[in-house]
Amino acid sequence: MNRGKLAAIKLRDEIGLEDPDDLPIEDVVVGRGGIVQYRSMGRTDGRIVYGKNLSTIFINSDIQYEGRRRFAIAHELGHLEMHKGSPLHEDNVSLDWFNNAEKHLKKGVQEYEANQFATEYLMPSDLFYNEAKGKIFNPDLVRHLAERFKTSLTSVAFKYFDTGLHPMAMFHIFNGKIRYWKKSDDLKVWIRDITKLPPPEDSVAMEYIEGGYKPIYPKDELQQSIYKSTYFKLGDYDEDTDFYEYCIVTESFKNILSIVWEK
Ligand SMILES: [Zn+2]
Repeated sequence: MNRGKLAAIKLRDEIGLEDPDDLPIEDVVVGRGGIVQYRSMGRTDGRIVYGKNLSTIFINSDIQYEGRRRFAIAHELGHLEMHKGSPLHEDNVSLDWFNNAEKHLKKGVQEYEANQFATEYLMPSDLFYNEAKGKIFNPDLVRHLAERFKTSLTSVAFKYFDTGLHPMAMFHIFNGKIRYWKKSDDLKVWIRDITKLPPPEDSVAMEYIEGGYKPIYPKDELQQSIYKSTYFKLGDYDEDTDFYEYCIVTESFKNILSIVWEK
């Protein structure tokens, strides 16, 4: 088990917290030697300044969604629990999920651990699994889970991926290009060579890029039909079957998490 997840379980144990909803996260921060302050911070979701007796977590007051705000606080709480003593750092919380190319860098490891901490703290694995199992995967389920656990859609998507409940591929698109992807072992596809390139012309992600990262579809049409060949290589005898694509878009970061699964 990774360090971030372990630290979150340990913290919940120490304070006797079964459901993170039972205690305001700001109060937990205070109990662990920190304080949460809100201020306008441009494109940064959160930041921590470590102090000998008291550390200060700054959270961007412009964040509109409670779930994203809570995730940012939980991420910084993870730094407080695990990384106290490191130089101060700014966080662009949503960009550090895939832990691929940057994992050899210390900052990359710390970001990954802080995300894992926040994920387990806000979405205890057993509660999450019980809430998600037996339900059809779609954008409504992601939204339902985000509301249930009061966390960000992105964090729910990654947590859900890790449960292995439904085979899927995920693409992280930043500034118009695919940075990382990953897929479930049981999604039997070959991903086209698209890393570092713009997403495919006929993808939903490309629609969002061309539309300036603004919302395009109403709530009940967030899952759009695409073809298998949009993101995947077709073998000689493969049929170009229908897939779904659902994009979680963060306009302020020019960030898209695209989730693709078979229809
Ligand atoms: Zn961080």
